[in-house]
Amino acid sequence: MSNAKIPLAAVIGHPIAHSKSPDVHGYWLRKYGIPGHYIPLDIAPDDLTDLLPRLPDLGFVGANVTIPHKETVMNIADEITDRATVIGAANTLTFQKDGRILADNTDGYGFIENIRQTVPNWNPKSGTAVVFGAGGAARAVLFSLLDVGVPRIILTNRTRERAEKLRDDFGNRIEVADWADAGNSLADSDLVVNTTSLGMTGHREMGVPLDGLKLGVIVADLVYSPLRTGLLATAEEKGCRVVDGLGMLLHQAVPGFEHWFGKRPDVDENIRKAVLQ
Ligand code: NAP
Repeated sequence: MSNAKIPLAAVIGHPIAHSKSPDVHGYWLRKYGIPGHYIPLDIAPDDLTDLLPRLPDLGFVGANVTIPHKETVMNIADEITDRATVIGAANTLTFQKDGRILADNTDGYGFIENIRQTVPNWNPKSGTAVVFGAGGAARAVLFSLLDVGVPRIILTNRTRERAEKLRDDFGNRIEVADWADAGNSLADSDLVVNTTSLGMTGHREMGVPLDGLKLGVIVADLVYSPLRTGLLATAEEKGCRVVDGLGMLLHQAVPGFEHWFGKRPDVDENIRKAVLQ
C-alpha cells in the first residue's frame, strides 16, 4: 500500500453550496488523472480563525476563499502577496510544507486573462475603460487594469462615495462619474466592465442607457448567471466584442490549481461546458 498523501483542497465560504469551484477543480483533477480532491467547506465566520490553521495538518494543500471570508483571511495568513495587499482581499490560499499560509488574490489576473483569451488583439494601453461598480470585485478589476497599463478609467457607482474611496486608494488615472451620468461616459470608452450585481439572476437589470456604446468596444460582464446578461446582449447587437463572466471564474482558478496539484490547467470550451451543466 502506498504512503503517498492524496492532496486535498477546498473552497471556504458561508454559505458555500452555490459555489462552482468544486465543479471547476473536480473537472481538471479528472481530466489530468490527478489523485486529489477538492471540496466545499462551510465555515462560519466565528470559526475561521480556529479552523483555517488546522487544515494543513489534515492534508489540505490550499483553499479558495469566498464570501464572507475574503478580507478576514488576510489577518490569519502568514504571508500576503503584493496584489492581495493592494486589493485588500484574498481568494487563494496555499499551505506551505511548514504549515504557513500564503494568501493571494487571483481575481484580477483571471479578469485580464479572460479578456486576453476572448479578444487576443486587445491593447490595454489604447484607451479609456469605463467601470460600473465599486464593490469587492471592482477593487480587483481596477488593480489589474492599472497594472496592465490602462491609461484612464472612468469609475461610476450608485453610491458615489465608494467610487471616490477607490479613486483615493488607486490614484489619479481613475476619474469618478455620477451614476446618473454613467451612460454618457460610454462615448469615450474602449472597454466597458460591469462589476455590479446588476443583471444577475434575481437582481435588477442594468438600467444604464447603452446608446453610447461604439462598434468594436470590448464589453465585459463579471456576472456569469445568466451567462448572457442584458448588458452583453445589447452590446452584441451594437457590434461590440463581448466577454462573459464565466471565463474570469475559470481563469482565476488556474494559479491555485497549478500550485496545489502541480499542473497548469487549460481553460477551454470543454471546461466551460462542464461547469455550465
Ligand atoms: P459587492 O461588493 O456586494 O458590490 C456590489 C456592487 O453592485 C456595488 O458596486 C453596488 O453598488 C452594486 N449594486 C448592487 N445593487 C445595485 C443596484 N440596484 N443598482 C446599482 N448598483 C447596484 O459585490 P462583489 O463581490 O463586488 O460582486 C459583484 C458582482 O461580480 C457579483 O455579481 C459577483 O457574482 C460578480 N463576481 C464575478 C466574479 C467572476 O469570477 N466572474 C468574481 C467576483 C465577483 P453600491 O456600492 O451602491 O451598493
